[in-house]
Amino acid sequence: MTDRVDAVVVGSGPNGLAAAVTLALKGLEVHVFEAAGTVGGGTRTAELTVEGVRHDVCSAVHPLGVASPFLRSLPLDEHGLTWSWPEIDLAHPLDDGTAGVLSRDMGMTAASLGPDADRWQRLFGPFATRFDELMVDLLGPIARVPHHPVALGRFGVRAVQPATRLTEGFGAEPARALFTGSAAHLTGPLDKLGSAAVGILLTAAGHAAGWPVAIGGSASITNALTSLLVSLGGQVTTGFEVRSMADLPECDVVVFDTSPQAAVRIAGDRLGPGVRRSLGRWRYGPAAWKVDLAVEGGIPWTAEACRHAGTVHVGGTAAEIVHAETEVSGGRATDRPFVLVAQQYLADPSRSRGNLHPVWAYAHVPHGYGGDATEALLNQIERFAPGFRDRIVATHVTGPAALEAYNPNYVGGDIATGANSLGQLLARPRLTTHPYRLSDDGLYLCSAATPPGAGVHGMCGHLAARAALADLHRRR
Ligand SMILES: Cc1cc2nc3c(=O)[nH]c(=O)nc-3n(C[C@H](O)[C@H](O)[C@H](O)COP(=O)(O)OP(=O)(O)OC[C@H]3O[C@@H](n4cnc5c(N)ncnc54)[C@H](O)[C@@H]3O)c2cc1C
Repeated sequence: MTDRVDAVVVGSGPNGLAAAVTLALKGLEVHVFEAAGTVGGGTRTAELTVEGVRHDVCSAVHPLGVASPFLRSLPLDEHGLTWSWPEIDLAHPLDDGTAGVLSRDMGMTAASLGPDADRWQRLFGPFATRFDELMVDLLGPIARVPHHPVALGRFGVRAVQPATRLTEGFGAEPARALFTGSAAHLTGPLDKLGSAAVGILLTAAGHAAGWPVAIGGSASITNALTSLLVSLGGQVTTGFEVRSMADLPECDVVVFDTSPQAAVRIAGDRLGPGVRRSLGRWRYGPAAWKVDLAVEGGIPWTAEACRHAGTVHVGGTAAEIVHAETEVSGGRATDRPFVLVAQQYLADPSRSRGNLHPVWAYAHVPHGYGGDATEALLNQIERFAPGFRDRIVATHVTGPAALEAYNPNYVGGDIATGANSLGQLLARPRLTTHPYRLSDDGLYLCSAATPPGAGVHGMCGHLAARAALADLHRRR
């Protein structure tokens, strides 16, 4: 084992690396251990189908990354990270050939929503205008006085509602479907209290900051964090799975970028029985069925807007999506799942080889789903883009079991590392005012199972490291 260091981070996802950078910026000697052969967790990029065509293995589109207060505070551009925006951030096609559009240009969105244009602007305009303030409080530490109570209060009043309630006031399908598709990133029932929150956040992000991709692939985000870490003296060891505390060098602080249960397994009796019990109760949600495609000439969407959109939500009407999410959350597969499609090459042509383009897609399926959702996923896209299947040159499929084998944080294929129930959104990973602290002697959890939750923003890692630094200051 290597020499003593100040701090160890187990796992090199965006949160693990954000924790490591936060600690290194304060002068601590940090060593990151990663089980896989490369850093990055949910941000790796690879030639999954055809040589020269680059696919994002997991995360693809980064409204929370570009808006993250922590990532924005770092000189990541000097370490190779460049964001790029598609002409249209998000489009949502309907069977009649039209599409709702989410854009940084509110006017473009309004033009796609017909009779609901004014209501959309009244509803989401204020959140977009005060988006930076919202980010500080929503992505910041919980259990403290908010910096912007008015903006947060206004958000809270809407966010606590069911997503289905929020769409009741819209008169036409484009607006209903556009919002419901963004709300469905929750991966849970959309008629439950609190299910509007993710949709409001992502819609406001779309108007305020856009839904960009990272040039070269999502790997550029964690490669930049790693490069910054190394420039600060940090060390990274890949291909090293941590199984117990005995695997680690002597140190003052250990930060786990793992699932709660994995942290319990590794930390063993360093954790008190109460913490072990409550982390053991952590529940996982529905899974992803990921399909990467090399498509000649791209997808021939009927709706013109979809041909210019970085992200396309495929699932039809709001009612269909609500039904699909209810089924999947109840453990039942559906022929018409909600499908997220990303066309990163529109903002980053370096991903393509000539006219052969990478298409990223995943469908929501039940937790641990053992069937095959590939046909259902492809049929959903074909429904809004006749002729699409004829253009597919190569396919790479990753179901829930393969996702978990790829990254143990995706238990049962749950890519959010935990069900987004109201209880787990408010008390993650357990009911406590110290969500990151696992023990009084320097153990912390920093993965997406901690606040503010899933997504590539690094805030869980940054805040866990800040908690560790505060404790360390007291202990020393
Ligand atoms: C298919 C898919 C699509 C997604 N799309 C998006 C998107 O478009 N935008 C977005 O913002 N987010 C997206 N996400 C979610 C996002 O990737 C995650 O929320 C984010 O990566 C979580 O970061 P993390 O650091 O908590 O954990 P992870 O990124 O999961 O990283 C954890 C790391 O820890 C390592 N590890 C675990 N246990 C050990 C151990 N015992 N020893 C050593 N190493 C260990 C793992 O190998 C892994 O590298 C997507 C995820 C998936 C899978």
